[in-house]
Amino acid sequence: MPSHADCQQELALDLGVRAPAAVAAPPGHTVTDAATPDLAAYDCLLVSSSAGKDSQASLNVTVAAARAANVLDRVVVVHADLGDAEWEGVPDLAAEHAAHYGLRFELTRRERDGQHYTILDHAEARGKWPSSQQRWCTSDFKRGPIRTVITRLVSELRATGRVQGRPVRVLNIMGLRAEESAARARRSPYAFNAAASNGRRHVDDWYPIFEWSTAAVWQRIRTAGTRPHPAYSQGMSRLSCRLCVLASRADLVCAARLNPELADRYADVEDRIGHRFRNDLSMADIIAEARGTAERTWLPLPELSSASGRRHDAGQR
Ligand code: SF4
Repeated sequence: MPSHADCQQELALDLGVRAPAAVAAPPGHTVTDAATPDLAAYDCLLVSSSAGKDSQASLNVTVAAARAANVLDRVVVVHADLGDAEWEGVPDLAAEHAAHYGLRFELTRRERDGQHYTILDHAEARGKWPSSQQRWCTSDFKRGPIRTVITRLVSELRATGRVQGRPVRVLNIMGLRAEESAARARRSPYAFNAAASNGRRHVDDWYPIFEWSTAAVWQRIRTAGTRPHPAYSQGMSRLSCRLCVLASRADLVCAARLNPELADRYADVEDRIGHRFRNDLSMADIIAEARGTAERTWLPLPELSSASGRRHDAGQR
């Protein structure tokens, strides 16, 4: 069932680059029968960029690998624009990162009635925030719009006539890292993506920096020469949505401090729909902590000293 076609093939045609050989991958398998992909076997190398540090590093790694394989012309960068959920300047920064390497850049977003439809709009409409179990924010606002870009790129490539008798091969490249969460650590860094594939295209996912530490990511960015978003130097550890349901408490408080107007809008929605931003944390709590007015729970002295004793004991084991 997996198929192939062409994606960046229009550019490939212009540059006289050969299409990959018409050898189909067995159903359910990656195009390359190895732990990492042969980039030259794909028609399109699509890098999803949030403009965050992991995207910066994975884009740099992809560019180096694509240059080595003489297929840099097949790389396309895509960013799903999340509107006011994102930090200021993020879509422009993603475009800047792509331009640094001379790559084609695609911007996509979810729309309703011709208008940008956002995560906050949707939370209010359905009366619920997303959660780790119901991550409609990722599936509907990132993955879905990016799949429409894949569909368009595949159509472009098929229209060139370069890919015939097989589906277009798309390598979907993301900066996911194992150390970010237990769920991510269980994933395979190179795998067939059945949900994104169909009779016209075969899509494999690849996470080129899957095993990397945060320190390694920053080291790579220093040598890459691309500009990180200023939110990092303002205290954020990640550049996800400004107020992400999966963020650490420290990042949420920092984000609310840096974006008080947006935090207030989230709190208003929380009030109206009567659903806490997160089971363990309301937006009102986050705002209170950001403004330094959160009620603190002080441990009475005896408990404090016994807690300190327990920590000491644990440290001696
Ligand atoms: S960054 Fe957080 S809130 Fe935004 S789409 Fe991803 S999981 Fe959802």
